[in-house]
Amino acid sequence: MYKLGLKYFLFSICIILYPTFLSAQSRYSLSTMPRIDVHAHVGSIERMTEYMEVRKVLKEQFNVDLAMWINLRSPLGPGGEGLDYLKEVDEKYQGRFLTCLTNHNISKGLKFSPEELVEWIDRGVVGYKIWVGVSPAIDHPANDVTLTKMEQIGMVGASVHISQPYPRNCKDPIKFWEAINAWERVLDRHPNLVVVNAHMINLFYSDEQLEYLQYVLETYPNVYIDIAARFKDFYSMKRENIRKFMIKYADRILFGTDISDQPEGGDYQQVAEAYNRCFQALETDKVLPRGFFGDREIRGISLPEDVLEKIYYRNAARIYPRVKDVLKNLGYVIE
Ligand SMILES: [Zn+2]
Repeated sequence: MYKLGLKYFLFSICIILYPTFLSAQSRYSLSTMPRIDVHAHVGSIERMTEYMEVRKVLKEQFNVDLAMWINLRSPLGPGGEGLDYLKEVDEKYQGRFLTCLTNHNISKGLKFSPEELVEWIDRGVVGYKIWVGVSPAIDHPANDVTLTKMEQIGMVGASVHISQPYPRNCKDPIKFWEAINAWERVLDRHPNLVVVNAHMINLFYSDEQLEYLQYVLETYPNVYIDIAARFKDFYSMKRENIRKFMIKYADRILFGTDISDQPEGGDYQQVAEAYNRCFQALETDKVLPRGFFGDREIRGISLPEDVLEKIYYRNAARIYPRVKDVLKNLGYVIE
């Protein structure tokens, strides 16, 4: 009698806990979850066909699903030029390539006016890529009307590039910090601006820089970061530090590569392998020959699966317009 009672008790507990267990579990495994490259300089429509070939190789040989790219190289201009491109990309690829406005020289101010931003977001653009580099130019008061409009209409700052790696590319610490501090002043004035900063805001070259990056993320809740082109530099921070950082800020980190001018002329295998090395750097603790760029060995940081899921697609689906709907239309189940 007692035994039967215990069995009944355990059975009831299972019934009660089953729904909780189900909701805590992802419906995806590493081989089925969609992965989004949020930092890709894709370019022409012809080039997109080649990206789809890379996607095929990744699926067939590496058993991973690279589902979508946020394209940071587009011909869209302030006067509406490039509209045909945008329509054709959507028609041909059902949203696998989502397009951003791009602005690479801001020394004379931002290229798109507030009115133009409204027009482009209505046409389906998902973000505004701004390249600043080692310069305080973004902090010019003339940019404020455009940045305010971005806040109002939900135009995401897409892979906004601030400063450059110090001391690798930028040799002057004063200039390096001047650019980052100028960006912080912009964020102070525009607290509702949602921005994915490119390359970990270039604060990745030492444990101290990584600590400063934590301060930025703690101070500005609408700032996210992509890890594009930073895989090869993981060695410059203590492995345990970068790992803990990625776990702690899993909701704020997005996968990206900075792929550009590739793949070309059928070299799909090589590009697929490069993508796979990036995935392995995050998923395994293997020593990898090199990352997407560079030739330095790095050891993977074996992140937990729920963290990877956020970095690969969940954060992008939450932050950028259209991503969630496109994934659903493509047949993915996204809560
Ligand atoms: Zn880039």
